[in-house]
Amino acid sequence: MKELIVLGAAVKEREPMAQHTTLAVGGPADWYVEVFNLEQLAALVKKARGRALPLFFMGAGSNLLVDDFGIRGVVAHLGGEFEKFTVEGDRVRAGAGVFLPTLVKQCADQFLGGIEPLVGVPGTVGGALAMNAGTRDLEMGTIVESVEILERDGTLKNMLKDEIKFSYRSSTLQGTTICFATLKLKRGNKDDIIPAIQKFLSYRLKTQPIGTLNVGSVFKNPPGHFAAELIEKAGLKGLTIGRAQVSGKHANFIVNCGGATAQDIKDLIMTVQHAVKEKFSISLDPEVKIVGGPR
Ligand SMILES: Cc1cc2nc3c(=O)[nH]c(=O)nc-3n(C[C@H](O)[C@H](O)[C@H](O)COP(=O)(O)OP(=O)(O)OC[C@H]3O[C@@H](n4cnc5c(N)ncnc54)[C@H](O)[C@@H]3O)c2cc1C
Repeated sequence: MKELIVLGAAVKEREPMAQHTTLAVGGPADWYVEVFNLEQLAALVKKARGRALPLFFMGAGSNLLVDDFGIRGVVAHLGGEFEKFTVEGDRVRAGAGVFLPTLVKQCADQFLGGIEPLVGVPGTVGGALAMNAGTRDLEMGTIVESVEILERDGTLKNMLKDEIKFSYRSSTLQGTTICFATLKLKRGNKDDIIPAIQKFLSYRLKTQPIGTLNVGSVFKNPPGHFAAELIEKAGLKGLTIGRAQVSGKHANFIVNCGGATAQDIKDLIMTVQHAVKEKFSISLDPEVKIVGGPR
């Protein structure tokens, strides 16, 4: 493996992905690169393309199940200028690396609401756009006005909302390089915004295994059903394979009880899919992105 140098960026070789995912599983990426500004990002993209290296963008790793063999090629994480945001009126221009819960709380400090339901989504702006993350109250795509992505020639392209398709936990931004986004929020009153944030957070605390190693909902809700309800009715709560367990608190969560492998979690996913299919003739489609593999 030849050295990978991108001036100013932090490059690590064979970096364990378990250290960068909320599930805390995943083998090493050949290279893990933290880029701090647009110039470094453009240089990295050019270098990876020149060497035919696959390039994967990782946000907070909160929707990823990385294979035990890790990820071949380069995993890029956007830090520095991508972790900043600016406010103008009711619009926020945020870097793709901004952590969504922090954004929601800091917007509240500036009397900006309209994004409160996303306070419990522990991902970055980039990850939330790629996934069209959301809750039953709000999806990321709803509040987006435009997204700036990196073009092949190293320049930024501004895409307006109607050039992007957002669907249930997916968007046509997947596979692009998301750099910044402009969100249209609502001017409001802190006395309304802060209690709303607290309400969304305490609901999660009550219903989800907060504080454990997990990836949020593992499966998408099939049309007309809730995945958690199907899994619970199939009697799978608490089912354990290796060190991975279907949460006793929320059946659509799989928890790493400490020391789980990606294979434990994959096996549990397949077992759950099989059992739900057998019992209800319904296929569960993973919401978690399963990435990586052997050479
Ligand atoms: C406790 C918990 C609760 C959760 N609750 C919710 C919820 O209520 N609703 C919900 O939708 N999700 C939820 N999730 C899942 C997850 O937080 C979201 O999917 C989140 O948007 C993922 O963002 P991320 O930055 O972690 O992206 P990652 O998991 O790192 O990546 C996800 C995808 O985004 C892509 N991506 C990331 N950054 C970029 C970029 N700059 N350019 C291009 N592509 C990029 C990646 O390549 C990957 O395909 C939850 C997760 C946890 C752990």
